[in-house]
Amino acid sequence: MAEPARARPKPTPETQHFWDGTQAGELRLQRCDACAHAYFPPRPFCPACGSRKVSIFKASGKARLYSYVIHHRPVPGFTPPYAIAVVELEEGPRMMTNIVGCPQTPEALILDMPLEVTFQTFGDIALPLFTPAEV
Ligand SMILES: [Zn+2]
Repeated sequence: MAEPARARPKPTPETQHFWDGTQAGELRLQRCDACAHAYFPPRPFCPACGSRKVSIFKASGKARLYSYVIHHRPVPGFTPPYAIAVVELEEGPRMMTNIVGCPQTPEALILDMPLEVTFQTFGDIALPLFTPAEV
């Protein structure tokens, strides 16, 4: 029997630009044209001031490890243990993700460690994951 696949997000009209970006190897955020607030997740108005004049831009892909838990129970598409992390992007917004390319242990996952985005394709969608940055 085939392994059950990892659950995947489904693009909506509000998030299509984000998923088009991950397919192109870009992390795309939105910024308010009125107050310059950068935000995530995608939405058609600024969460800080309510303006609907917002622009899409390519983020640097740099982030720091803000918080995480190490998950030990099996979940379809994941091999435990694995970290469920929140990273803080260089532009300010925080994003829930996984950390790849290092052991999933408290010794390897140091809060505030520098990370960079990497994209992994699952079926018809590319997910933004993070890996320790070369320093
Ligand atoms: Zn705003």
